[in-house]
Amino acid sequence: MKIAVASGKGGTGKTTVAVGLALSLREVQFVDADAEEPNCHLFLHPSIEQTIPVYMMLPEVDLSKCTFCGECAEFCQFNALAVVKQKVLVFPELCHGCTGCVYACPKDAIKPKQRQIGEVEVGTARGMRFIQGRLKPGEPSAVRIVSDEIAHINPGAAAIIDAAPGTACAVQDTIGNSDFCLLVTEPTPFGLHDLRMAMDLAKELDVPAGVVINRSGARDDLIEQECRRRNIPVLVRIPFDRRIAEAYSRGEPLVDAFPEWRERLQSVYVQIERRVKQ
Ligand code: SF4
Ligand code: SF4
Repeated sequence: MKIAVASGKGGTGKTTVAVGLALSLREVQFVDADAEEPNCHLFLHPSIEQTIPVYMMLPEVDLSKCTFCGECAEFCQFNALAVVKQKVLVFPELCHGCTGCVYACPKDAIKPKQRQIGEVEVGTARGMRFIQGRLKPGEPSAVRIVSDEIAHINPGAAAIIDAAPGTACAVQDTIGNSDFCLLVTEPTPFGLHDLRMAMDLAKELDVPAGVVINRSGARDDLIEQECRRRNIPVLVRIPFDRRIAEAYSRGEPLVDAFPEWRERLQSVYVQIERRVKQ
């Protein structure tokens, strides 16, 4: 079973929940799929055994064959190509590496060139298989890296995947490849707004979801009403407690600082397992 731990926005406590959940279970793998800013290693201190480069295709135009017809630029949905006078401009930061322009060119003037956009690291952390992606600074999309991370998951064991914040393409890829989406939120108007987007995404991808209310307190009804309306369960509430924030700032996982949370997060896993099997 693959569980994506996601949130519509950053700073909700997603990493706290993902790391805590993984450390509460046996025979589990951990994937940090926030390739733009991987931070779970700060809590898990993995030993990396393998680093695999990740490449993406970039078009290379042979001007001796090109007739400057403009068909490639017209084809590209991402505006990554422009034909001006006797030049074909390629904008690497807009290119999604789909290879479509290679086939759209009637003169066979475009060849795929590979460029490295980041890497996937595989190792172990506290007895778990540990996988994390790293996108090179300046690269626009982590989708290819997340796909490669997911491909390195061992299908024989459960995996907890810490998704990137938000609802962009890399998050869609993470949730779409998971059996369950655990949405971490906070009871504030901003939290509710972004939770709704994440709930919509999980629904669109047809992945069952449950909610963790972090910094739970007097405003929980904001989130609970929305969950009732959508028939999405609140699986656990983590209280607004300064000591939890202090442990986080020391790089101490929740379940190490407060061992009672181990059992509570195991119960979240049992609830998820039941819902996935339904
Ligand atoms: S489609 Fe091919 S021939 Fe036409 S402008 Fe693009 S590269 Fe040149
Ligand atoms: S590979 Fe795809 S995204 Fe990149 S320039 Fe060609 S058509 Fe556009």
